[in-house]
Amino acid sequence: MKILVLNSGSSSIKYQLFNMENENVLAKGIVERIGIDDSFLEHEVNGDEIVIKEDIPNHSKGISLVIDALLDDNHGVLASMDEINAVGHRVVHGGEKFADSVKITDEVVEQMEDVSDLAPLHNPPNIAGIKVCQELMPEKPQVGVFDTAFHQSMPAEAYTYALPYEYYEKYGVRRYGFHGTSHRFVAKRAAKLIDKDFNDSKIITCHLGNGASVAAVKNGKSIDTSMGLTPLEGLVMGTRCGDIDPAIVPFLQEKEDLSSKEIDNIMNKKSGLLGISGISNDSRDIQEAAADGNERAQLAGDVFNYRVKKYIGAYTAAMGGVDAIVFTAGIGENAIEIREGILDGLEYLGFELDKEANDSRGKEIEISKAGSDTRVFVIPTNEELVIARDTAEILEG
Ligand code: ADP
Repeated sequence: MKILVLNSGSSSIKYQLFNMENENVLAKGIVERIGIDDSFLEHEVNGDEIVIKEDIPNHSKGISLVIDALLDDNHGVLASMDEINAVGHRVVHGGEKFADSVKITDEVVEQMEDVSDLAPLHNPPNIAGIKVCQELMPEKPQVGVFDTAFHQSMPAEAYTYALPYEYYEKYGVRRYGFHGTSHRFVAKRAAKLIDKDFNDSKIITCHLGNGASVAAVKNGKSIDTSMGLTPLEGLVMGTRCGDIDPAIVPFLQEKEDLSSKEIDNIMNKKSGLLGISGISNDSRDIQEAAADGNERAQLAGDVFNYRVKKYIGAYTAAMGGVDAIVFTAGIGENAIEIREGILDGLEYLGFELDKEANDSRGKEIEISKAGSDTRVFVIPTNEELVIARDTAEILEG
């Protein structure tokens, strides 16, 4: 079985074609700068990269180019489109409607559109990608996999904001959480690594990338996560502020004469590591500058680590203990010093950091010492593979 996985953004489309017999990636790539000048497709097969420069005014043209690349005589991997069994789509926001991945029907598309105002930048391009596929390959089953779905198991006490209840009823203002496919994937893997039944385990997953969130996964279910109505809540991120006193918003709006759009832009694009350091949103730049004695870069790193540490403590309390802590995504998988900074002082949870094991990037490894009661792991995430697996599973009924 072959599954095409698509992640359609506003100006880009990422894709991977999986052979599900062995879960190998046959080809992958990205369409960039859709609707902008200098658009192109970058296509990778067996480590060889091909760049196709072409005018790509919309998603329809972008996905057509992906199909052409997959079928191409030279760098293609398919003899015909018949070889693709289904398409799996990443969809950012499923609201309260989707607690699992689903086979896409017209009704499902309508429901996705209904919750689009909760993710106005993400859901419309996700849906555009789905509609283009329905047009280009009407006979192929399409599956939607939602970033929010895994967190739909959160209890009301975790997802309810202490605002007038009518805003939840009228507009769906509640916590949803994101990165669900990633948290689910690494939590499940951690349960396997500690040889525990996933349905009888307490796992904290730290997805630390440019966007970052922590999840408390108890007995196989997400019971809390740090992102909220939008991905702005929770941890310090590359350019997002995460948790702040909400009174800061009107305070700054008045002081700086900012519109709601402008303050939203500041909190999403100009805050976080970038905002505190004034240097970069990239943790590597921050670490380098801090090592060179830049105090604000040092502070940015310290605030980042401290916030993650607090969430780990909070989620240990929420679950009444923790069996395993997992680090994943760009920072979680690669940033040795950041992992050490976060874990420093958390040893009372029942582990000792194995500094030698922690001196490792991008691969699955246990970083707690043998004999630790609470185990700590680095587990590379693979959201595309989860989408492909869910799609295959739904196809097989
Ligand atoms: P996104 O949320 O955009 O998918 P990623 O998961 O790719 O983000 O993570 C991006 C972050 O990972 C950046 O802050 C980057 O500095 C960090 N990162 C990536 N590789 C390394 C590395 N080798 N060492 C330290 N940090 C890294």
